Amino acid sequence: MSHDPVLVVHGGAWAMPDEMVDAHIRGVNNAMAAGWRVLERGGSAVDAVEEAVVVMEDDETFDAGRGSFLNRDGKVQLDALIMDGATLRAGGVGCVERLRNPVRAARKILSESSHVYFVAEGAERFAAEHGIPLCKNEDLVIPREVERLRKYQLRSSNGGNDLFAPTISHDTVGAVALDRDGNIAAATSTGGTLNKDPGRLGDSSLIGCGCYADNLSAAASTTGWGEPIMKLVLAKWTADRIAAGNLPEWAAQEAMNHLKQRVDGHGGIIVIDAQGQVGIAYNTPRMAWGYKSVNKQESGVERNS
Ligand code: ASP
Repeated sequence: MSHDPVLVVHGGAWAMPDEMVDAHIRGVNNAMAAGWRVLERGGSAVDAVEEAVVVMEDDETFDAGRGSFLNRDGKVQLDALIMDGATLRAGGVGCVERLRNPVRAARKILSESSHVYFVAEGAERFAAEHGIPLCKNEDLVIPREVERLRKYQLRSSNGGNDLFAPTISHDTVGAVALDRDGNIAAATSTGGTLNKDPGRLGDSSLIGCGCYADNLSAAASTTGWGEPIMKLVLAKWTADRIAAGNLPEWAAQEAMNHLKQRVDGHGGIIVIDAQGQVGIAYNTPRMAWGYKSVNKQESGVERNS
């Protein structure tokens, strides 16, 4: 039986200022176009989420790939995960510094490795051995982010920062999809949080935290302040509620309530089940999101915008 494909993407949840809205909407629309090209010709959900995420990694609007936030040492350090709900195969990379598209390396791990997760130099070596070119870390650093880090560190030395306020941007990217064969998949990619300690890994690339996919429950991708999300294993928490018979829309909203109430966290989530029912929720003022099905396409930074 052929299913009608569905694709949902996000480009971060935070108090996005008005002047950044257009760039975010353009970015998620471009990502949807790339993912949709895969789905409409009968390609897999895994391929679709990979292509959608690559587009946002290449877009400097987002905290993924080139243009990501810098860590305390002024370096870009990237994390990504991709997961296939049909097989539960997954591929993750953490703390990579020389990959333009960490989701491509994660995908190679999913498809070609018996392991699930590689970090740092070993992840880069795996990628290079599987045909992915390495870049220099400087190639991923842009002047806007050098300036952002400089200002942040200056303010910190005066005791004036709250890194985890919802006004601090969270521009992590992610996608979830249902393909014609009825399989679902998810992918998430991030540069993590501004001024993070070198070696810090967030939720985004951890299975069940920032990303999860199982045909029997749901595929989910999160964004937001990573430490609270990790503690709740939030993507899996949400998928479990859907497996228990709840609608994705309800489960996504409940996940945001749980995040706030249990650990005072903030962020956003997109989720899809194998029937193509979706949930899109956030507890920050805005989240960049996009939705596409056979007869509907929507995107925005607020849910009813
Ligand atoms: N969740 C990401 C992290 O903590 C950041 C984000 O979503 O913006 O690494």
